[in-house]
Amino acid sequence: MCVIFTCGEQEFTSELEGAEGLRCQCRNCGNWSASAIKRHPWFTFCFIPVIPLSIHGYEDVACPICNFAQPLAHRGDVIQQMRMMQQNGGAVPLQNQAPPTGGPTQPAWAGPQPTGAPKPAPQMQYG
Ligand SMILES: [Zn+2]
Repeated sequence: MCVIFTCGEQEFTSELEGAEGLRCQCRNCGNWSASAIKRHPWFTFCFIPVIPLSIHGYEDVACPICNFAQPLAHRGDVIQQMRMMQQNGGAVPLQNQAPPTGGPTQPAWAGPQPTGAPKPAPQMQYG
C-alpha cells in the first residue's frame, strides 16, 4: 500500500480594504491598471488549506496585465492615494477627479436628481 500526502502552498488574494477601486501605475509595464491587493498564503495538505502562513497577510501592488507585484510599502504614491480616499470617506473630490491618463470621467452627481416644480406642458402650435 502506498499513501502519498501532498503538501503545498496556496495563495488567496483579495482587494485591499480601503483601496477598493483604486488604480495606480504599474512600475513594470507603465499601465494604470495596478491595484492594491492583500495576499494570504496558506499551507495546504492534500490540496486543502489548513494553516495560514501569515496572520495579517501581505499587502502588494499588483498588475493584472504583466503580473508584476511589489510590496505596498515601496509605493508611497499608492499609500498617499489610499489616505486621500479614506479622508474623503471613499469619495474623490471633484477637482482631483481627472485621472492622470486623461481617461473618461464619470460625473460625481450621477444619481437621482431633485425634482422641482412641474414643467409646463409644451403648447401645441397650429399654423
Ligand atoms: Zn504591469
